[in-house]
Amino acid sequence: MDMNLGLRPEVRRLLDRVAAMVRDEIMPVEEEYHGEIGKGDRWAYTPRQAEILEGLKARARSEGLWNFWLTDSERGIGLSTVEYACFAEEMGKTPLGAEVFNCSAPDTGNMEVFERYGTEAMKERWLKPLLAGEIRSAYLMTEPDVASSDATNVAMSCVRDGEDYVLNGEKWWISGAGDPRCRVYITMVRTGGDDMPKHQRHSMIVVPAESMGIEILRPMQVYGHDDAPHGHMHLRFSDVRVPAENLLLGEGRGFEIAQGRLGPGRIHHCMRAIGQAEAALELMCRRSLDREAFGKPLAQLGANYDIIAECRMEIEMARLLCLKAAWYMDQGDARAAAPWISQIKVVAPRVALKVIDEAVQMHGGAGISQETPLARAWTHVRTLRLADGPDAVHRRQVARAELRRYTQEKV
Ligand SMILES: Cc1cc2nc3c(=O)[nH]c(=O)nc-3n(C[C@H](O)[C@H](O)[C@H](O)COP(=O)(O)OP(=O)(O)OC[C@H]3O[C@@H](n4cnc5c(N)ncnc54)[C@H](O)[C@@H]3O)c2cc1C
Repeated sequence: MDMNLGLRPEVRRLLDRVAAMVRDEIMPVEEEYHGEIGKGDRWAYTPRQAEILEGLKARARSEGLWNFWLTDSERGIGLSTVEYACFAEEMGKTPLGAEVFNCSAPDTGNMEVFERYGTEAMKERWLKPLLAGEIRSAYLMTEPDVASSDATNVAMSCVRDGEDYVLNGEKWWISGAGDPRCRVYITMVRTGGDDMPKHQRHSMIVVPAESMGIEILRPMQVYGHDDAPHGHMHLRFSDVRVPAENLLLGEGRGFEIAQGRLGPGRIHHCMRAIGQAEAALELMCRRSLDREAFGKPLAQLGANYDIIAECRMEIEMARLLCLKAAWYMDQGDARAAAPWISQIKVVAPRVALKVIDEAVQMHGGAGISQETPLARAWTHVRTLRLADGPDAVHRRQVARAELRRYTQEKV
């Protein structure tokens, strides 16, 4: 039986429809969709791929299964973060899930930025087509030459010149910048000198993807995969000119924006990872019952009961922690929510990796092959231990919050 963690009945019904669409319509076409990649240009959508994706999106949208992530906005359907987290779990069960319902990263975080901090002109030009699922976007923070887990190191220069800003530098690991539909970059740049306080030296600026002077140097590979056509690109900016009004909020306010952007996104990533863990546990259980060795189903051999039980228990613990972090977000105090978000940002990928790995093991050689979605899921979740802050950075946040209870001094 499901424990009701605050889902209103009408939201529960909506969630059931999302779960049904994921199971009955999206999962069955994933293999065909991914099989299309590389037929021709890897960085374009084949007609069949576009047909699958756009067809699913159109259906979801026409059914009102769209933009669930807009939690505290009159543009959304008014889900709480706790409620949305349950949707993210369902969507996370399949790689295409989030995009079909227009809930994918990094667009949701970018849309949030446009909504909260964008001018009316930006909302018209970028937010509207993003909300309609017509274009995609990227978030540019990480740089090859600096330790970017400490974002105060971000060095891309952004210098005012008349009516424009001029940007120079490199960014890498820019997810989604390979997608031909990616039209806009929200970019973290350095605008202030060493005389400014550390957290007021940076700004966020909106850069149209087709701006002169932007070069895509290469796709970064994740364990040998380029994740085409989405991609995680290495970009070079050479004298890229952007109108001054594209600077969000004002010079020196980049960290203020980053704070608001990353919190909810981390919870979404974590719940999707839990969804992947659930999907892997289901595959593990089915395999362990269907296949026999030494005269018995695999489930009954060795420590496999214990393995299955441990996976179930860890998923449940991770989900509750994630919902608690989401609940803190819903209380409206981002500072109080931060250590909880950091806890789940460490725990959810760790649990999902363990469950997926055990599922791989139960499948034997098939587990690491293209036969199951497990290998792809493992590489994807492994990247989450780095993206949006490496584990160590989040553990540091958790420890600082813990120690703060015993001392007023900064630690
Ligand atoms: C698949 C993928 C997609 C990504 N997508 C994006 C994107 O769309 N946009 C974007 O801007 N970036 C993106 N990133 C980049 C990601 O956010 C960075 O890799 C991450 O922030 C770490 O920065 P770094 O790689 O420079 O590592 P570094 O800062 O060099 O850190 C390396 C290691 O140092 C150690 N370390 C750092 N700080 C501490 C500490 N306080 N205590 C102890 N140890 C520490 C940790 O072990 C850490 O992993 C993506 C990364 C991946 C892998």
